[in-house]
Amino acid sequence: MIKKLFKFVGICIFSLGVMSAHAEAVDQKDTADRLEAIQLLAERDNHAALKQLKDFVAKLDATTDYQIRIDALGDLARAYEDSGDTEQSKLVIQEIKQLAEANKDTDTLAILRLSEVYALRDSGKIAQAIAKLDEIALSLKATKRIEYAMRIEINYASMYLAASKFDQALSHTLTALKLTEQLKRHQTLSKMRRLDTLASLYYTMQNPEKALVVVSEALALTSQVNSPRIVANLRQTQAMALADLKRYPEALVAYERSLQASQEANLPRLEALTLSNIADLYLRTENFVKAEAVARQALKKAQAIKDELATYNAKANIGFALGGQYKINQAMEYLNPVLAHSREQGDKADIALTVGEIGRMLERAKMYREALEYTREEQKLNDEVFRADRAKAVATLQEQFDADQRQKQIELLARENQIKDADLKNGRLQQIIMLLGSTVAVFVGIFVFMLYRKVKQTNAQLAEVNQQLEFHSVRDPLTGLHNRRSFLELMKTRVENVENDRRETDGANPDCLMILDIDHFKHINDTWGHAAGDAVLIEVAKRLRSAVRDSDQTMRWGGEEFLVYSPRTKPQQLAPMVERVLRSIGATPIVVGHHTIPVTVSAGYIALPFSGIPEQQCNWEKAMQFADMALYLGKVNGRNRAYGLISLLKPVEQALPMLEHDFSSAIKENMVEVNIILGPKTEALAPQ
Ligand code: GH3
Ligand code: MG
Ligand code: MG
Repeated sequence: MIKKLFKFVGICIFSLGVMSAHAEAVDQKDTADRLEAIQLLAERDNHAALKQLKDFVAKLDATTDYQIRIDALGDLARAYEDSGDTEQSKLVIQEIKQLAEANKDTDTLAILRLSEVYALRDSGKIAQAIAKLDEIALSLKATKRIEYAMRIEINYASMYLAASKFDQALSHTLTALKLTEQLKRHQTLSKMRRLDTLASLYYTMQNPEKALVVVSEALALTSQVNSPRIVANLRQTQAMALADLKRYPEALVAYERSLQASQEANLPRLEALTLSNIADLYLRTENFVKAEAVARQALKKAQAIKDELATYNAKANIGFALGGQYKINQAMEYLNPVLAHSREQGDKADIALTVGEIGRMLERAKMYREALEYTREEQKLNDEVFRADRAKAVATLQEQFDADQRQKQIELLARENQIKDADLKNGRLQQIIMLLGSTVAVFVGIFVFMLYRKVKQTNAQLAEVNQQLEFHSVRDPLTGLHNRRSFLELMKTRVENVENDRRETDGANPDCLMILDIDHFKHINDTWGHAAGDAVLIEVAKRLRSAVRDSDQTMRWGGEEFLVYSPRTKPQQLAPMVERVLRSIGATPIVVGHHTIPVTVSAGYIALPFSGIPEQQCNWEKAMQFADMALYLGKVNGRNRAYGLISLLKPVEQALPMLEHDFSSAIKENMVEVNIILGPKTEALAPQ
């Protein structure tokens, strides 16, 4: 029950991508064909392919086509990785690097640098990871290797996924899918893989229905290629989506097919993952005896390939399965090391998860006193995680701002280049016109005219490009509201204006920032489906817009978070506006198809300038951070309410730093006047 292992996160540099050989020379054709045969074998039997690849690579020498050598080594690295031998895989990658360096193959060297991107992502530095990826992508811009271009797209998708920017993740995944059409070999296979990536993405976006549709599309292609490997992956994704939809018997069938295929293809890593997920499924359906049996199999597999994560996961599953059978002492023998390991790792969310599950297990066994201890710790940890998440969200805000600036610069650069190109072209054409015009007369007239037209055409094209660039989206595609980026733009001009603005001296009509977050939105998605969730977002956006003035800006801040920016609002108008917003969203349930869905929001708001403090001292970012913290107060104090920070009650020098560094204490110690506005009375929506 502990956590589901998910395969989308680990993207290995040379995995998934088929590095097909394009040997031109005739005498290399045999070698290329042999490699292709091994690549196809790897789809059916990784073990056999690994053996052949070792032989194949051993026989290569300096006379072999460079691309074939690189491809073969890439395949070998992947085969090692899939067999569970990460160490060997790393050594082979080292070899690829040396070979690429010797051949000044900058493309391959760039691709190898993707490991730096993963490292940044895995340590939570998403903005930096994306910046690094931008660099790599730039150096691969002109690459002729479609596989590399595809790899870049998939990596963008993975990074945006980690940053919860689903729209962008989706768009890059679709680009990767489109690129498969340009492949010279293994086209169908590659398409199936990209469809699997797409389905996994939908799954992560909590849209299992769509994931299933995409998986079916890919499975329909299985008759064209003999690849248990891809079948194993697709069935895995399918099973996960089915389990999410609580269609457990079907999920089990899909997992079993995945298991069978991964056994057939000799993919022990995938096998261990699948066994783990099957055990999880049995735990979910409280079939503890079966769960135990499968988890033990998973443990054996995981230990055989020395996969630490999979090993702990299997142990946790065995523990919970034993607990379900009321064998608490035995269970704790498995769970204690798991817990110790997670404490050692220090990931609080992870510890909370384990501790919580243990608590619930003890509760089932009616060991209430023991359970309480774990449950208390879980609560404490969750509270800490929640706070840390909030703080992180604010930090991300800043990073996001920087990233957007960078994006802007890149676009400007691109535009400048296009202008330069066009200028050059025009200049050249104009020179020719002059030249021709001065030497020959009538005969050339028509020619000159044509050339002149061409100049005009180029100019028209240029104008169009400029227009397209200017129209980089400022709207959120789902709700039609302004998006985060347009708000950041707005704030930028605001910062530029603020110094000579009267707001600095006149606190009578400050601007107001209000941040809203739908309550228990996950529960809405889980209960009524993701599509209904989308419909709710659209309706909430509509209600929000109609509740505020036309001059106010409403924005979709993130998934189910919105932002209202109300310039020049009289303080006495603030509370009625906030109340109107809460009421207009929460008073009547939202009807989606046959469902009536009660929806409420929590909010935090603040005036800017805040409490008359100059904006140099408390800028909009800081104010947003406070509004966000106020929102958090609204959440923990019961939801369906807004918390507003009205003014400081203590000197700025004392109160402001405290608010920044220890928000809860600042509130407790009455550093700031807080206004609480309750939402409408409704049938409360809370997950059971
Ligand atoms: P809380 O009351 O504490 O805010 O609970 P919550 O469930 O709303 O909190 P959480 O932030 O954990 O969940 C937000 C969910 O919103 C998770 C995410 O899958 C979902 N979500 C984000 N964007 C979209 C979207 O565009 N459409 C749909 N349907 N769901 C989305
Ligand atoms: Mg949220
Ligand atoms: Mg929410």
